[in-house]
Amino acid sequence: MAEDFTYKILILGERNVGKTSLLLRFCRDTFNQNIMQSSGLSFLPKEIIIDNEKVVLALWDTAATEAYRSINKAYYRSALGVIMVYDQTDIKTFNAIPSWITEAQEVIGIDKPIVIFGNKSDLTEKVEVSAEMAEEFSSKNQYMFFKVSAKTGYNVSLGFIELAKIIHKSK
Ligand code: GDP
Ligand code: MG
Repeated sequence: MAEDFTYKILILGERNVGKTSLLLRFCRDTFNQNIMQSSGLSFLPKEIIIDNEKVVLALWDTAATEAYRSINKAYYRSALGVIMVYDQTDIKTFNAIPSWITEAQEVIGIDKPIVIFGNKSDLTEKVEVSAEMAEEFSSKNQYMFFKVSAKTGYNVSLGFIELAKIIHKSK
């Protein structure tokens, strides 16, 4: 019998960047522009196959806790990786990344892989964060970076699966 692997992954970022939408795209292949604040999920599982092995990603959405960051610590515990999301049309959400990462690393450690998602790449008219800025920041800190869109699905599965592969390789 092959061993089963379950990896807890955190989805972090400011309110409205598209965290819940990215999870719904990856896990259910759906998108809703009028998603309700209250439809913030706290957890979704997704089964994938890596190197012929079944891997379950336990994906944790920080939902309503953006405003109460001190209570996030319980969510963070035992996570093996982070999807750090900003909205490329809102530079404030990009500038908030270091504080999210610092806070998470205080709980999960500094050795866990982090993937940066520049979301809403479909909104090409309103870009405030260039891909170059994000790539420079990411490579400097040894994070992986993907431009993504929960709306079109662009790069979403690829990004989640790349993170899962890094975690799986370290097992
Ligand atoms: P959260 O607060 O980070 O969970 O963000 P939500 O998933 O609730 O998304 C906030 C808003 O942005 C909603 O109106 C979504 O429909 C919209 N949204 C999320 N992802 C995208 C995207 O890739 N493109 C566009 N155009 N809108 C998006
Ligand atoms: Mg949400």
